[in-house]
Amino acid sequence: MSKPRPRRAARSSGGGDVHELGGARVGPGERADVNVLVSQRTSGAPVYVPAHVWRGAAPGPTLLVTGTLHGDEINGAGIVRRIIDEPRFELLAGTLVLVPVINVLGFERNSRYMPDRRDLNRAFPGSASGSLTARYAHALFHEFLLNSDCCIDLHSAASLRTNYPNVRVDLTNSEASALAVSFGCELVIDGEGPDGSFRKSACAAGVPTMILEAGEVSKIEPSVEETGARGVRNALIHLKMTEGEPVKPPYQALIHKTVWVRASNGGVLRFHAGPGDVVDQGQPLATNTDLLGRPLNVIESPAAGVLLGMTTLPAVAPGDPVAHLAIPDGGVEWIRKALKKARTKDGHAHHEIVREHLSTNVVVDEWEEGPE
Ligand SMILES: [Zn+2]
Repeated sequence: MSKPRPRRAARSSGGGDVHELGGARVGPGERADVNVLVSQRTSGAPVYVPAHVWRGAAPGPTLLVTGTLHGDEINGAGIVRRIIDEPRFELLAGTLVLVPVINVLGFERNSRYMPDRRDLNRAFPGSASGSLTARYAHALFHEFLLNSDCCIDLHSAASLRTNYPNVRVDLTNSEASALAVSFGCELVIDGEGPDGSFRKSACAAGVPTMILEAGEVSKIEPSVEETGARGVRNALIHLKMTEGEPVKPPYQALIHKTVWVRASNGGVLRFHAGPGDVVDQGQPLATNTDLLGRPLNVIESPAAGVLLGMTTLPAVAPGDPVAHLAIPDGGVEWIRKALKKARTKDGHAHHEIVREHLSTNVVVDEWEEGPE
């Protein structure tokens, strides 16, 4: 059952009207670069968020795509840049608003946080009279979000971790879920997001929103760019803003349960599995060794699942996260079968490339049982 949600009239667009953003007026069939004033620096200099507004000729919804809400998660900036540079679709209807870097103040310092040390993604919907971060959030919410009908917000894993590309959405929100499913990642993680997050506040305001979580901070990773660009095109097909065949994933699992696997000793890890791998219960994920390389213990998977995220820092203290495991409802055998089928059909498929690329940061050794 879907929860009752506030309904907003579509703000947009297409047809004979104009889309207004940051003082610019963009007509049907037009494209424009726009700078939106959202804040001020300590020096008094204005802070603008650059955006690209792209209109189809026909009426339709407004899709907002935002990157780098956490200022060091620049994979989102890479995805948006690729969509602007090399679009693989013709925008036929509605309005696509592309924002590579929405947290300009965090981005300039390669920091997750705002200059007042707050997390922008816990400050929505913001306040016009609050802290720097609250005011910045308020400006974004009013300038960008409330002028949109739905939103895709692009994130990466937090510092020193990597995420196999996955989307996160409140599965009780039917429109947001349909958007997230259409994006075409293998893993769709259920959850409404933390209080104050952009997506939770956006959904509460009647703008269905999903997030992508992919790759690492401080990097623009080609396979993540590719995943994001495909996903946005898939979403545009779903929203009937363009035409074409969506790129389907080899499997798609709705995930209601995830678990962090943690180190029990201080030491240095040797990994036996990487992001995106399908693992069985009890399968060795990493061997924790002392500084001389002597094995301390083998960290095993607590359940059958798919590795959603991994640490990229192999030096761990007790309790540090090693891996984030997605646990599908129906086990993993159907996933293995689907992957095998996709491998025979597509040769070297995109999901294999993503797994390999992300694993370059996580050196995976075969697990060999040592002496007792
Ligand atoms: Zn983030």
